Amino acid sequence: MIVFVVNCGSSSIKYQLFDMTDESVLARGLLERVGQSGSVLHHRSNETTHEIEVDAPNHTVGLKIILDTLVDPKIGVLKNIEEIEGVGHRVVHGGEQIRESTLIDENVIKVIKDNASLAPLHNPPNLAGIEAAMSALSNVPQVAVFDTAFLATLPPRAYRYAVPRQWYEKYRVRRYGFHGTSHRYVTLRAAEILGKSVEEVNLITAHLGNGCSMTAVAGGKAIDHSMGLTPLEGLVMGTRSGDIDPAVIFYMARTAGMSLDEIDTTLNKKSGLLGLSGVSNDMRDCVEAAKKGNTDAALAMEVFSYRVAKYIGAYFAILPGCDAIIMTGGIGENSLPIRLRICQLLSNIGVIPDEKRNEEAIRKVGLITADDSKIPVWIIPTNEELMIARDTRDVVKQMAVK
Ligand code: ADP
Repeated sequence: MIVFVVNCGSSSIKYQLFDMTDESVLARGLLERVGQSGSVLHHRSNETTHEIEVDAPNHTVGLKIILDTLVDPKIGVLKNIEEIEGVGHRVVHGGEQIRESTLIDENVIKVIKDNASLAPLHNPPNLAGIEAAMSALSNVPQVAVFDTAFLATLPPRAYRYAVPRQWYEKYRVRRYGFHGTSHRYVTLRAAEILGKSVEEVNLITAHLGNGCSMTAVAGGKAIDHSMGLTPLEGLVMGTRSGDIDPAVIFYMARTAGMSLDEIDTTLNKKSGLLGLSGVSNDMRDCVEAAKKGNTDAALAMEVFSYRVAKYIGAYFAILPGCDAIIMTGGIGENSLPIRLRICQLLSNIGVIPDEKRNEEAIRKVGLITADDSKIPVWIIPTNEELMIARDTRDVVKQMAVK
Protein backbone atom coordinates (compact mmCIF):
# COMPACT_ATOMS: atom_id res chain seq x y z
CA MET A 1 0.00 0.00 0.00
CA ILE A 2 1.31 3.45 -0.95
CA VAL A 3 0.55 6.15 1.63
CA PHE A 4 1.12 9.87 1.19
CA VAL A 5 1.73 11.84 4.40
CA VAL A 6 1.11 15.58 4.41
CA ASN A 7 1.97 18.18 7.05
CA CYS A 8 0.76 21.65 6.08
CA GLY A 9 1.98 24.76 7.85
CA SER A 10 0.83 28.29 7.12
CA SER A 11 3.44 28.75 4.38
CA SER A 12 4.80 25.26 3.87
CA ILE A 13 3.87 21.72 2.89
CA LYS A 14 6.03 18.84 4.18
CA TYR A 15 5.41 15.42 2.70
CA GLN A 16 6.60 11.83 2.61
CA LEU A 17 5.51 9.01 0.35
CA PHE A 18 5.67 5.57 1.97
CA ASP A 19 5.55 2.09 0.54
CA MET A 20 3.91 0.37 3.50
CA THR A 21 4.87 -3.13 2.34
CA ASP A 22 8.27 -2.46 3.95
CA GLU A 23 7.66 1.04 5.38
CA SER A 24 10.28 2.47 3.02
CA VAL A 25 10.24 6.16 2.08
CA LEU A 26 9.92 6.53 -1.70
CA ALA A 27 10.10 10.33 -1.68
CA ARG A 28 10.06 13.18 0.76
CA GLY A 29 10.14 16.91 0.50
CA LEU A 30 9.24 20.38 1.57
CA LEU A 31 7.51 23.11 -0.37
CA GLU A 32 8.46 26.44 1.14
CA ARG A 33 6.99 29.93 0.82
CA VAL A 34 3.48 28.78 -0.13
CA GLY A 35 1.35 31.89 -0.74
CA GLN A 36 4.45 34.06 -1.09
CA SER A 37 6.76 34.92 -3.96
CA GLY A 38 9.74 32.66 -4.65
CA SER A 39 8.25 29.29 -3.60
CA VAL A 40 10.80 26.49 -3.66
CA LEU A 41 10.20 22.75 -3.72
CA HIS A 42 12.92 20.61 -2.10
CA HIS A 43 12.13 17.13 -3.36
CA ARG A 44 14.16 14.06 -2.46
CA SER A 45 13.81 10.74 -4.26
CA ASN A 46 16.28 8.02 -5.28
CA GLU A 47 18.87 9.52 -2.92
CA THR A 48 18.95 12.81 -4.82
CA THR A 49 17.60 16.17 -3.68
CA HIS A 50 16.10 18.46 -6.30
CA GLU A 51 15.50 22.16 -5.68
CA ILE A 52 12.79 23.47 -7.96
CA GLU A 53 11.50 27.04 -8.15
CA VAL A 54 7.73 26.98 -8.48
CA ASP A 55 4.73 29.26 -8.32
CA ALA A 56 2.56 28.16 -5.36
CA PRO A 57 0.04 30.90 -4.53
CA ASN A 58 -1.92 28.60 -2.20
CA HIS A 59 -1.97 25.10 -0.69
CA THR A 60 -4.18 23.66 -3.46
CA VAL A 61 -1.72 24.66 -6.18
CA GLY A 62 1.19 23.65 -3.94
CA LEU A 63 -0.16 20.16 -3.40
CA LYS A 64 -0.84 19.76 -7.12
CA ILE A 65 2.81 20.67 -7.82
CA ILE A 66 3.97 18.03 -5.32
CA LEU A 67 1.68 15.34 -6.77
CA ASP A 68 2.86 16.19 -10.30
CA THR A 69 6.45 15.83 -9.08
CA LEU A 70 5.68 12.38 -7.65
CA VAL A 71 4.67 11.18 -11.15
CA ASP A 72 7.27 13.20 -13.05
CA PRO A 73 8.94 10.90 -15.63
CA LYS A 74 12.44 11.99 -14.52
CA ILE A 75 12.38 12.58 -10.78
CA GLY A 76 9.05 10.98 -9.87
CA VAL A 77 8.60 7.64 -8.13
CA LEU A 78 5.07 6.68 -9.19
CA LYS A 79 3.75 5.82 -12.63
CA ASN A 80 0.30 6.99 -11.78
CA ILE A 81 -1.07 9.11 -8.94
CA GLU A 82 -3.81 6.50 -8.47
CA GLU A 83 -1.22 4.23 -6.88
CA ILE A 84 -1.73 6.30 -3.70
CA GLU A 85 -4.22 4.39 -1.52
CA GLY A 86 -4.38 6.65 1.50
CA VAL A 87 -3.45 10.18 2.52
CA GLY A 88 -2.48 10.87 6.13
CA HIS A 89 -2.69 14.42 7.44
CA ARG A 90 -1.01 15.79 10.51
CA VAL A 91 -3.56 17.90 12.36
CA VAL A 92 -2.56 19.72 15.53
CA HIS A 93 -5.73 20.16 17.55
CA GLY A 94 -8.58 17.69 17.90
CA GLY A 95 -9.85 19.23 21.14
CA GLU A 96 -11.77 16.93 23.46
CA GLN A 97 -13.74 15.35 20.66
CA ILE A 98 -11.06 13.27 18.95
CA ARG A 99 -9.12 10.54 20.71
CA GLU A 100 -7.65 8.59 17.80
CA SER A 101 -6.71 8.78 14.14
CA THR A 102 -9.84 9.08 12.06
CA LEU A 103 -11.14 8.92 8.51
CA ILE A 104 -11.89 12.49 7.51
CA ASP A 105 -15.56 13.25 6.98
CA GLU A 106 -17.72 16.33 7.48
CA ASN A 107 -17.79 15.82 11.23
CA VAL A 108 -13.99 15.64 11.49
CA ILE A 109 -13.68 18.80 9.39
CA LYS A 110 -16.11 20.50 11.76
CA VAL A 111 -14.00 19.44 14.76
CA ILE A 112 -10.86 20.86 13.12
CA LYS A 113 -12.69 24.13 12.47
CA ASP A 114 -14.18 24.21 15.98
CA ASN A 115 -10.72 23.89 17.49
CA ALA A 116 -9.09 26.50 15.25
CA SER A 117 -9.41 29.12 17.99
CA LEU A 118 -7.24 26.90 20.24
CA ALA A 119 -4.59 26.37 17.51
CA PRO A 120 -4.93 29.40 15.24
CA LEU A 121 -1.51 28.95 13.62
CA HIS A 122 -1.96 25.27 12.88
CA ASN A 123 -5.52 24.04 12.36
CA PRO A 124 -6.39 26.43 9.48
CA PRO A 125 -3.36 25.44 7.33
CA ASN A 126 -3.87 21.77 8.28
CA LEU A 127 -7.41 22.10 6.97
CA ALA A 128 -6.22 23.86 3.81
CA GLY A 129 -4.02 20.81 3.15
CA ILE A 130 -6.94 18.44 3.71
CA GLU A 131 -9.17 20.37 1.33
CA ALA A 132 -6.41 20.51 -1.29
CA ALA A 133 -5.79 16.75 -1.02
CA MET A 134 -9.51 15.97 -1.11
CA SER A 135 -9.88 17.85 -4.35
CA ALA A 136 -6.70 16.47 -5.96
CA LEU A 137 -7.24 12.87 -4.79
CA SER A 138 -11.00 12.77 -4.44
CA ASN A 139 -11.33 8.97 -4.46
CA VAL A 140 -8.59 8.33 -1.92
CA PRO A 141 -9.41 7.97 1.82
CA GLN A 142 -8.02 10.88 3.84
CA VAL A 143 -7.04 10.25 7.45
CA ALA A 144 -6.42 12.85 10.16
CA VAL A 145 -3.78 12.09 12.79
CA PHE A 146 -4.05 14.55 15.67
CA ASP A 147 -1.18 15.81 17.83
CA THR A 148 -3.55 15.94 20.77
CA ALA A 149 -4.99 12.40 20.40
CA PHE A 150 -2.41 10.47 22.44
CA LEU A 151 -2.94 12.94 25.28
CA ALA A 152 -6.72 12.49 25.33
CA THR A 153 -6.28 9.90 28.11
CA LEU A 154 -5.10 12.50 30.64
CA PRO A 155 -7.35 12.34 33.72
CA PRO A 156 -9.15 15.49 34.92
CA ARG A 157 -6.70 15.96 37.79
CA ALA A 158 -3.93 16.39 35.21
CA TYR A 159 -5.80 18.37 32.59
CA ARG A 160 -7.85 20.76 34.72
CA TYR A 161 -6.36 24.07 35.82
CA ALA A 162 -7.38 25.47 39.19
CA VAL A 163 -9.36 28.33 37.66
CA PRO A 164 -13.12 28.97 37.79
CA ARG A 165 -15.03 25.97 36.45
CA GLN A 166 -16.78 28.20 33.91
CA TRP A 167 -13.47 28.88 32.17
CA TYR A 168 -13.35 25.18 31.35
CA GLU A 169 -17.03 24.72 30.60
CA LYS A 170 -17.57 27.83 28.51
CA TYR A 171 -14.13 28.50 27.03
CA ARG A 172 -12.61 25.00 27.13
CA VAL A 173 -9.60 26.20 29.14
CA ARG A 174 -7.69 23.02 30.08
CA ARG A 175 -4.47 21.19 29.34
CA TYR A 176 -4.58 19.52 25.92
CA GLY A 177 -0.93 18.79 25.20
CA PHE A 178 0.88 18.49 21.88
CA HIS A 179 3.58 16.37 20.14
CA GLY A 180 1.30 13.40 20.89
CA THR A 181 2.22 11.55 17.71
CA SER A 182 5.91 11.70 18.66
CA HIS A 183 5.25 10.58 22.25
CA ARG A 184 3.12 7.70 20.96
CA TYR A 185 5.76 6.63 18.44
CA VAL A 186 8.55 6.48 21.03
CA THR A 187 6.23 4.76 23.53
CA LEU A 188 5.55 1.96 21.04
CA ARG A 189 9.26 1.70 20.13
CA ALA A 190 10.27 1.70 23.79
CA ALA A 191 7.87 -1.16 24.55
CA GLU A 192 9.45 -3.16 21.69
CA ILE A 193 12.98 -2.36 22.86
CA LEU A 194 12.20 -3.23 26.48
CA GLY A 195 10.46 -6.45 25.43
CA LYS A 196 7.15 -5.54 27.05
CA SER A 197 3.64 -5.15 25.75
CA VAL A 198 2.58 -1.52 25.41
CA GLU A 199 -0.10 -2.03 28.07
CA GLU A 200 2.56 -2.87 30.65
CA VAL A 201 5.05 -0.14 29.97
CA ASN A 202 5.59 2.87 32.28
CA LEU A 203 7.71 5.64 30.81
CA ILE A 204 8.72 9.26 30.91
CA THR A 205 9.06 10.46 27.32
CA ALA A 206 10.81 13.76 26.60
CA HIS A 207 10.50 15.32 23.16
CA LEU A 208 13.32 17.89 23.09
CA GLY A 209 13.39 19.77 19.79
CA ASN A 210 12.65 23.36 18.95
CA GLY A 211 9.44 22.78 20.84
CA CYS A 212 9.88 20.63 23.97
CA SER A 213 7.36 18.55 25.88
CA MET A 214 7.25 15.66 28.31
CA THR A 215 4.68 12.92 28.89
CA ALA A 216 4.17 10.55 31.82
CA VAL A 217 3.03 7.22 30.34
CA ALA A 218 1.43 4.60 32.59
CA GLY A 219 0.45 1.27 31.08
CA GLY A 220 1.07 2.70 27.61
CA LYS A 221 -1.32 5.63 28.18
CA ALA A 222 -0.53 9.29 28.75
CA ILE A 223 -1.42 10.34 32.30
CA ASP A 224 0.28 13.72 32.42
CA HIS A 225 1.97 16.08 30.00
CA SER A 226 3.90 19.35 30.19
CA MET A 227 2.30 21.44 27.44
CA GLY A 228 -1.04 23.01 28.21
CA LEU A 229 -3.86 24.93 26.58
CA THR A 230 -1.16 25.94 24.10
CA PRO A 231 2.41 24.71 23.51
CA LEU A 232 3.76 27.57 25.66
CA GLU A 233 3.59 25.74 28.98
CA GLY A 234 6.19 23.45 30.50
CA LEU A 235 9.80 22.99 29.46
CA VAL A 236 12.19 25.67 28.22
CA MET A 237 12.10 25.65 24.40
CA GLY A 238 13.97 27.30 21.51
CA THR A 239 11.99 30.54 21.72
CA ARG A 240 9.19 29.73 24.20
CA SER A 241 9.50 30.44 27.91
CA GLY A 242 7.73 27.34 29.18
CA ASP A 243 6.47 27.73 32.78
CA ILE A 244 6.43 31.20 34.28
CA ASP A 245 4.35 32.78 37.00
CA PRO A 246 1.26 34.04 35.09
CA ALA A 247 1.56 37.24 37.12
CA VAL A 248 4.66 38.12 35.05
CA ILE A 249 2.23 39.01 32.26
CA PHE A 250 0.24 41.54 34.32
CA TYR A 251 3.42 42.88 35.84
CA MET A 252 5.04 43.53 32.45
CA ALA A 253 1.83 45.06 31.11
CA ARG A 254 1.55 47.41 34.08
CA THR A 255 5.16 48.30 34.76
CA ALA A 256 6.74 48.10 31.29
CA GLY A 257 3.60 49.21 29.42
CA MET A 258 3.72 46.24 27.06
CA SER A 259 0.60 45.29 25.12
CA LEU A 260 -0.87 41.78 25.37
CA ASP A 261 0.25 41.10 21.80
CA GLU A 262 3.81 42.17 22.59
CA ILE A 263 3.93 39.93 25.65
CA ASP A 264 2.43 37.05 23.65
CA THR A 265 5.09 37.45 20.95
CA THR A 266 7.87 37.81 23.52
CA LEU A 267 6.93 34.67 25.44
CA ASN A 268 6.43 32.60 22.27
CA LYS A 269 9.14 33.91 19.95
CA LYS A 270 11.80 35.74 21.96
CA SER A 271 12.13 33.72 25.13
CA GLY A 272 13.45 30.23 25.89
CA LEU A 273 17.04 29.51 24.84
CA LEU A 274 17.03 32.64 22.66
CA GLY A 275 15.84 34.91 25.45
CA LEU A 276 18.15 33.50 28.11
CA SER A 277 21.29 33.25 25.97
CA GLY A 278 20.82 36.29 23.75
CA VAL A 279 22.69 34.11 21.24
CA SER A 280 20.30 31.76 19.49
CA ASN A 281 17.25 29.53 19.74
CA ASP A 282 19.42 26.69 18.47
CA MET A 283 21.01 24.49 21.12
CA ARG A 284 24.09 23.91 18.95
CA ASP A 285 24.82 27.65 18.93
CA CYS A 286 24.31 27.88 22.70
CA VAL A 287 26.71 24.98 23.30
CA GLU A 288 29.34 26.57 21.03
CA ALA A 289 28.97 29.99 22.67
CA ALA A 290 29.17 28.47 26.15
CA LYS A 291 32.38 26.65 25.17
CA LYS A 292 33.86 30.03 24.24
CA GLY A 293 33.01 31.40 27.66
CA ASN A 294 29.60 33.00 27.10
CA THR A 295 28.04 32.71 30.56
CA ASP A 296 24.50 33.59 29.35
CA ALA A 297 24.59 30.69 26.91
CA ALA A 298 25.88 28.40 29.67
CA LEU A 299 23.03 29.52 31.91
CA ALA A 300 20.49 28.86 29.11
CA MET A 301 21.80 25.28 28.85
CA GLU A 302 21.59 24.85 32.61
CA VAL A 303 18.05 26.27 32.94
CA PHE A 304 16.96 24.03 30.04
CA SER A 305 18.48 20.88 31.58
CA TYR A 306 17.30 21.70 35.10
CA ARG A 307 13.69 22.19 33.96
CA VAL A 308 13.77 18.84 32.14
CA ALA A 309 15.20 17.12 35.25
CA LYS A 310 12.60 18.78 37.47
CA TYR A 311 9.72 17.52 35.31
CA ILE A 312 11.23 14.04 35.19
CA GLY A 313 11.38 14.06 38.99
CA ALA A 314 7.73 15.10 39.19
CA TYR A 315 6.61 12.44 36.72
CA PHE A 316 8.71 9.79 38.47
CA ALA A 317 6.77 10.60 41.64
CA ILE A 318 3.31 10.23 40.07
CA LEU A 319 3.94 7.12 37.92
CA PRO A 320 3.27 3.62 39.25
CA GLY A 321 6.84 2.76 38.22
CA CYS A 322 9.29 3.86 35.56
CA ASP A 323 10.77 1.33 33.13
CA ALA A 324 12.73 3.98 31.25
CA ILE A 325 13.19 7.63 30.46
CA ILE A 326 13.09 8.26 26.71
CA MET A 327 14.66 11.25 24.98
CA THR A 328 13.87 12.23 21.40
CA GLY A 329 13.69 15.29 19.10
CA GLY A 330 16.64 17.25 17.70
CA ILE A 331 18.23 17.92 21.10
CA GLY A 332 17.34 14.53 22.59
CA GLU A 333 18.73 12.69 19.58
CA ASN A 334 21.90 14.75 19.19
CA SER A 335 22.99 16.98 22.02
CA LEU A 336 25.55 15.06 24.10
CA PRO A 337 26.22 17.75 26.74
CA ILE A 338 22.53 18.36 27.42
CA ARG A 339 21.70 14.64 27.70
CA LEU A 340 24.65 14.13 30.02
CA ARG A 341 23.72 17.12 32.18
CA ILE A 342 20.09 15.96 32.52
CA CYS A 343 21.28 12.51 33.63
CA GLN A 344 23.70 14.07 36.14
CA LEU A 345 20.88 16.17 37.59
CA LEU A 346 18.87 12.97 38.10
CA SER A 347 21.47 11.28 40.31
CA ASN A 348 19.17 11.57 43.34
CA ILE A 349 16.70 9.19 41.73
CA GLY A 350 19.50 6.80 40.82
CA VAL A 351 20.23 7.71 37.20
CA ILE A 352 23.87 6.97 36.31
CA PRO A 353 25.01 8.24 32.90
CA ASP A 354 27.53 6.34 30.77
CA GLU A 355 29.55 8.87 28.77
CA LYS A 356 30.77 6.40 26.18
CA ARG A 357 27.27 5.11 25.48
CA ASN A 358 26.06 8.72 25.32
CA GLU A 359 28.64 9.48 22.62
CA GLU A 360 27.57 6.47 20.57
CA ALA A 361 23.81 7.04 20.55
CA ILE A 362 23.52 9.84 18.02
CA ARG A 363 20.41 9.88 15.82
CA LYS A 364 19.92 6.18 16.60
CA VAL A 365 18.42 4.01 19.29
CA GLY A 366 20.78 3.64 22.22
CA LEU A 367 21.01 3.32 25.98
CA ILE A 368 23.00 6.19 27.54
CA THR A 369 23.06 5.04 31.17
CA ALA A 370 25.20 2.51 33.02
CA ASP A 371 23.99 -1.04 33.67
CA ASP A 372 23.54 -0.25 37.37
CA SER A 373 21.50 2.91 36.72
CA LYS A 374 18.23 2.59 38.64
CA ILE A 375 16.31 3.95 35.67
CA PRO A 376 17.63 3.42 32.14
CA VAL A 377 17.66 6.41 29.80
CA TRP A 378 17.16 5.55 26.14
CA ILE A 379 17.54 7.68 23.03
CA ILE A 380 14.85 6.82 20.49
CA PRO A 381 14.72 8.93 17.30
CA THR A 382 11.15 9.97 16.65
CA ASN A 383 9.33 9.37 13.38
CA GLU A 384 6.00 11.16 13.34
CA GLU A 385 5.55 10.70 9.60
CA LEU A 386 5.86 6.92 9.88
CA MET A 387 3.35 6.93 12.75
CA ILE A 388 0.92 8.91 10.56
CA ALA A 389 1.51 6.51 7.64
CA ARG A 390 0.84 3.47 9.87
CA ASP A 391 -2.36 4.96 11.25
CA THR A 392 -3.49 5.83 7.72
CA ARG A 393 -2.82 2.28 6.56
CA ASP A 394 -4.75 0.88 9.55
CA VAL A 395 -7.76 3.15 9.03
CA VAL A 396 -7.85 2.34 5.29
CA LYS A 397 -7.61 -1.41 6.05
CA GLN A 398 -10.46 -1.17 8.57
CA MET A 399 -12.59 0.53 5.91
CA ALA A 400 -11.96 -2.41 3.58
CA VAL A 401 -13.10 -4.85 6.32
CA LYS A 402 -16.32 -2.90 6.84
P1 ADP B 1 11.56 20.80 15.55
O1 ADP B 1 10.97 20.78 16.93
O2 ADP B 1 11.42 22.13 14.85
O3 ADP B 1 11.21 19.60 14.71
P2 ADP B 1 14.12 19.55 15.94
O4 ADP B 1 13.51 18.35 16.56
O5 ADP B 1 14.85 19.40 14.66
O6 ADP B 1 13.12 20.75 15.79
O7 ADP B 1 15.13 20.14 17.04
C1 ADP B 1 15.82 21.34 16.86
C2 ADP B 1 16.84 21.44 17.97
O8 ADP B 1 17.71 20.31 17.91
C3 ADP B 1 17.73 22.68 17.90
O9 ADP B 1 17.88 23.25 19.17
C4 ADP B 1 19.06 22.10 17.46
O10 ADP B 1 20.14 22.82 17.99
C5 ADP B 1 19.04 20.72 18.03
N1 ADP B 1 19.96 19.90 17.27
C6 ADP B 1 19.79 19.42 16.03
N2 ADP B 1 20.91 18.76 15.62
C7 ADP B 1 21.79 18.83 16.64
C8 ADP B 1 23.12 18.36 16.86
N3 ADP B 1 23.77 17.68 15.92
N4 ADP B 1 23.69 18.64 18.05
C9 ADP B 1 23.04 19.32 19.00
N5 ADP B 1 21.80 19.80 18.85
C10 ADP B 1 21.18 19.56 17.70
